[in-house]
Amino acid sequence: LGWVQRELDELGIPPLKRLGQRFLVDTKARDEIINAASLTKEDTVLEIGPGLGFLTKQIATKSGKVMAIEKDRTLAAYLSRKFSSLRNLTVVEGDFLRVKLPAYDKIVSSPPYNISSKLIVRILEAHPKCAVLLLQEEFVKRLTAPSGSKEYGRISVMLQSQGIAEYVAPVERSSFQPRPRVDSAITRITFPSSSPPITNMELFTDLVRNLFSQRRRNLERVVKKYLFGILGDGQEEVLSSLEIPKKRVYELRPEEFVGLANEIHLRAVKRKAP
Ligand code: SAH
Repeated sequence: LGWVQRELDELGIPPLKRLGQRFLVDTKARDEIINAASLTKEDTVLEIGPGLGFLTKQIATKSGKVMAIEKDRTLAAYLSRKFSSLRNLTVVEGDFLRVKLPAYDKIVSSPPYNISSKLIVRILEAHPKCAVLLLQEEFVKRLTAPSGSKEYGRISVMLQSQGIAEYVAPVERSSFQPRPRVDSAITRITFPSSSPPITNMELFTDLVRNLFSQRRRNLERVVKKYLFGILGDGQEEVLSSLEIPKKRVYELRPEEFVGLANEIHLRAVKRKAP
């Protein structure tokens, strides 16, 4: 029996599917995650879903401060006890998607896969120095997908319009206990300051969502429908003033989505303001 099973047995709890509990047991994968984050003693690190603390201990050793947020009450209490000697670690019992987050520099985490999209959205609100995440491989491919590819979608544009996601390495199913039924991979997300600013995030998010609901259609036609939805008859004038690339929705690059949203904001929404 492995150490994961032994510790869970001692706690009297089975791994909970609902919370995406599958625990990392492979030191090679762990070290790849830790190295990708280039931790220093200056860093304050947020860990989402520390579980039994396999990553947590390494993060605490290499960084200045760690805040680990764990939703499972039993695991949170267990971690506080297990690592009571790690003075720079704070374990918080709570839901990462709901708690008010403290200031932090980096995220290092092997989170539950069912919160992946929401997690990325929260990271986009904060622009940390980096986020190193172990996620479902298929999701990592969506984050890193270039325009025009099959995997390119809403989450690709949301991320790549503000930051960069790199594929660091695959992680085998046997690296976890219990063994998951999907492939996994490590990604590193960073935010170089060169991205053009999005003038209105709400409009941008709304536009990207709307356009990708018809990803294979002609861009101009979908934009026309979108503008009609928000402006009614006022759309004709705005549409004629826009320069819309002759492409299908999924062929538009992230910075082109930003340009389009900024133009629409400038010409349509701002004009209506008092
Ligand atoms: N990082 C650990 C555990 C991975 S399993 C490891 O690699 O071994 C995912 C962990 O996230 C579990 O401990 C689960 O209880 C926790 N979790 C699930 N949903 C969460 C949420 N919304 N906020 C914080 N933790 C969560």
